Amino acid sequence: MKFPVLYESGTWPSTHRCPQCDKLALLSPHPMAILAGGALRVTDPDTKAAVVASDCIGLLSLFWHGGGGRPNAQLPIVEYAPLGQYELRFCSTQCLKGFLCAAVDALEKAIPRD
Ligand SMILES: [Zn+2]
Repeated sequence: MKFPVLYESGTWPSTHRCPQCDKLALLSPHPMAILAGGALRVTDPDTKAAVVASDCIGLLSLFWHGGGGRPNAQLPIVEYAPLGQYELRFCSTQCLKGFLCAAVDALEKAIPRD
């Protein structure tokens, strides 16, 4: 799998096929597992009211902090998602879990070894 999986878009994958198992299942009325994230602009701190903001971008990354001056590692998963919003869609929680495990595996490979 090539990371980041989502760049300058708000939804991954761009088709209705699950990116883990290739099953044609990512359209209603099929159920799906979604990793959703992003940022909103707060319009009223007292009530925590917020809106989608056109000048925001969404990001999602895994980081390894080397500690003690040792090198860090980063795995970008989502970059420059417009409006600060994104969704990563899967046909099942099992496929979502497989994706997250693949991302952690990719982070582990990116960690500089002594
Ligand atoms: Zn799947």
